[in-house]
Amino acid sequence: MKSILIRNGALLTSEGWLEPGYVLVEGGEIKAVGAGAPPPGMAGEETVDAAHCAVLPGLINGHTHFSQSFMRGLGGGLPLLPWLKERIWPLQRAMTPETLRLAARLALIENLRCGATTVVDHHKIARTPAHTDAVCEAAAELGLRVTLARAWADLGNGAEEPQEILADLERLLERWAGSPHVTIANGPVALWRCSPETLQRTHALIRAHGGVTHAHVAETRDEVTLSLEAHDLRPVAWLEEIGVLGPETELVHAVWLDEEELDLVAERGATVVHCPIANMVLGSGAAPVPALQAREVPVRLGSDGPASNDTQDLFEVMKAALNLARVTALDPTVLAPDAVLRMATDGRALTPGAPADLIVVNLNHPRAVPVHDLDAALVLCSHGSDVRTVIAGGKVLLRDGELLVLDESALLEECRRAVRELLRESELRTN
Ligand SMILES: [Zn+2]
Repeated sequence: MKSILIRNGALLTSEGWLEPGYVLVEGGEIKAVGAGAPPPGMAGEETVDAAHCAVLPGLINGHTHFSQSFMRGLGGGLPLLPWLKERIWPLQRAMTPETLRLAARLALIENLRCGATTVVDHHKIARTPAHTDAVCEAAAELGLRVTLARAWADLGNGAEEPQEILADLERLLERWAGSPHVTIANGPVALWRCSPETLQRTHALIRAHGGVTHAHVAETRDEVTLSLEAHDLRPVAWLEEIGVLGPETELVHAVWLDEEELDLVAERGATVVHCPIANMVLGSGAAPVPALQAREVPVRLGSDGPASNDTQDLFEVMKAALNLARVTALDPTVLAPDAVLRMATDGRALTPGAPADLIVVNLNHPRAVPVHDLDAALVLCSHGSDVRTVIAGGKVLLRDGELLVLDESALLEECRRAVRELLRESELRTN
């Protein structure tokens, strides 16, 4: 692995922005960070000139569905349940391990190009081990860090047996133990399709392996109604009741929380993954981000799947998070750009000893000049396409806009062909 010296950039450090500065990357780690020019004698086998660029930790896309990269553009005009039933599930049913591998590669490349070095894939197509393996292998092959939250439901349509779910989770945990690229999480798909016993057992299993439970929770008002009808409790209160709310719980969406649930989330130390664009596209509502922040609940950002976003560009997500919070509160002072950037980076900074997952974002273009405030320039003025260079685990994956990990044109062509076949196949199956 080559050493890399990045110079002349504006650096996001634990003390705030440092401009200009340098970063030395060696052996997969950040070795040195400093102000001004690198000291005499410091050199890298590769040098990146980051003049007029921001250099920051790679972004974290806290929630998406890779399989949906073949379904982008299909999200508009339907409420959540009909959207799932009429558009998403028929296509998901027709996906083979090989189509899923292509969809995962496409999603990974999109995330990479948009500056995400860590991505959580809530993986819903786990009907055979080969389907799940195809996604994990794509992640390992491309060099990003992926948490695969293995989705499951043991109630209703497409239910799996609890024993099968637990056995597959155990298989995945064993296969990917110690991988720098793949981490396994427990991914109950939606609470109303999961029994309390299986939730408890899978949560206990994943906690024993140091992992998390990652689930869609309180995304829509309908979901709250279903929970009240089934359990006489709202979704978060029900998770608390069955003992599945804690620091190892990630609540995706968390749009419809009442005051009591907000307090519970804070008291138990759970994390919320906020997906503002998907919530707007599906007309689900606005998550109470300022109320979560007031309670110091960790909030990450997610693009959600391309079927409900329709891109995985976290720069768009950051701007949407800021604007949705302000328009909902009718208050332009809520959620400053630096707070939104902290959500997208999980509060990380360029620090010696940290893993070398970092990105170089070009701010030398008419949308960003003049740069009065680096946080605002990144959150309000930037697009994913402004990401010039991406380094993950000390390896350059994107260099000055050029993708180094695969033949991108060939992948796009393969994806177009696979989607044509998928549409034909899903029509056969849905007729
Ligand atoms: Zn989702």
